[in-house]
Amino acid sequence: MNLQEFIKKYENAGIISDRAAAEQVLDEFRSCFQGKKAVIYGAGILGKSVSNILEYINVEVAFLLDRNFEFQAKKFNVPVYAPEYLLGCSGGADLELLLAVNEQIAEEVKNQYQEWSCPVELTFLSEKLQNVLKSSICTQKLADGRFDPLSCFECGIVDNGCEVFYQYGKQCIGKENVVETAKIEGLGVIMGQVCTLKCIHCNESLPHFDRTCRGFEKKEDILASLRLLTEACGVIGHIELVGGEPFLHPDLAGVLKGILDLNIGFVQIFTNGTVVPSEEVCEVLANKRIAVYISNYERVLSETFKKNRNLMEEKFKKYGVTYELGRSKSWMDFSSFEEIEESDEQWREQYENCGMNKCHRLYQGRLFGCPHHYGGTVRGFIDIEDSVDIHKYNAEELAGVLKRFREEPCKACRRCKMPFQAPFVKDAIQMGEENDG
Ligand code: SF4
Ligand code: SF4
Repeated sequence: MNLQEFIKKYENAGIISDRAAAEQVLDEFRSCFQGKKAVIYGAGILGKSVSNILEYINVEVAFLLDRNFEFQAKKFNVPVYAPEYLLGCSGGADLELLLAVNEQIAEEVKNQYQEWSCPVELTFLSEKLQNVLKSSICTQKLADGRFDPLSCFECGIVDNGCEVFYQYGKQCIGKENVVETAKIEGLGVIMGQVCTLKCIHCNESLPHFDRTCRGFEKKEDILASLRLLTEACGVIGHIELVGGEPFLHPDLAGVLKGILDLNIGFVQIFTNGTVVPSEEVCEVLANKRIAVYISNYERVLSETFKKNRNLMEEKFKKYGVTYELGRSKSWMDFSSFEEIEESDEQWREQYENCGMNKCHRLYQGRLFGCPHHYGGTVRGFIDIEDSVDIHKYNAEELAGVLKRFREEPCKACRRCKMPFQAPFVKDAIQMGEENDG
């Protein structure tokens, strides 16, 4: 099989969660490189991900190419060169050239080589295709007991509902054989609207909220909603705690203890790393069903905040907390709530193609389609009736409501630039920061 045939066969295959199918995908991908080494254009997050995939299937990478080659070089065990390196590179037949960048940059790269009169054939590995490969690897690892939930933090699939991660969550609580009555793969629990940073493009719209809707959610309310949802679904694979800054919550330890008693497999906590957790919180965090993701907002952190982040890491190490320090990466700006003119068909297409369409939010007993839906509702752009008031139903009724809720595109999409029109912006640009380009 060659790469073009592989792409044609698998580009729309989605998440692979069946072991035999996963093995076939990986074997066929490996067969595309017989006798050849790979060259990856793009040494950013996508390039790293492709490099990891190739390493896993034992395909050798000769080198990478990137405009920021000096900066990116330290992330790889093979050389990273400037794009021009290819112009003087004699090899060809024994190299398979892969493009691991976003679609927009892929076009620019192809045009650039044409301008240089360098007729190279670069094969674009779309994110969709990478997801097929990544999920196949995770499926194999899960079956072999080698699965690492930390890998999910930087994997874009998780906000789209990854069946493999979901199954891992069920395994964590010995519920792998439970058949759900309704399914929620991705649920972000809003812990409050208090944060130490003010990121203009915050997913959760935080700095744009009115003062009247800032505070912390009560432990009892969070747990009552989660209990009802788990009763409706039978089991929930994983949830994430988001905010605001979850480590500012006055009873984070109590919330976590309560969650660990529910039929919820795995808990991710997203923090900006500026708040040092208490001893009590660290003790609860040291649980194999919990992992913390520290977002890397180095660029905007004050010296005090940087110190706090180091202290946080020290404490996590001391207590054996599972955590990951993220990489600095671009954000997509979908903070606008301007109405979009589109047909129902375009609306559905937008929703189905959005990488956040299963990234639900739970806030004050209501379920929202995604963070944009939650933020837009709290800010008054979207009718509150478009979210689900879960406590209006008993568990059985709620299971039916949840199924219907997920069949329809989210109303908020009609006021959202994701996924086709949201521009890339620098990460964590603060309110008042002049340059937001
Ligand atoms: S979300 Fe996790 S389980 Fe799913 S493919 Fe990504 S890393 Fe693997
Ligand atoms: S509103 Fe729609 S398009 Fe926007 S992030 Fe949510 S699911 Fe995606």
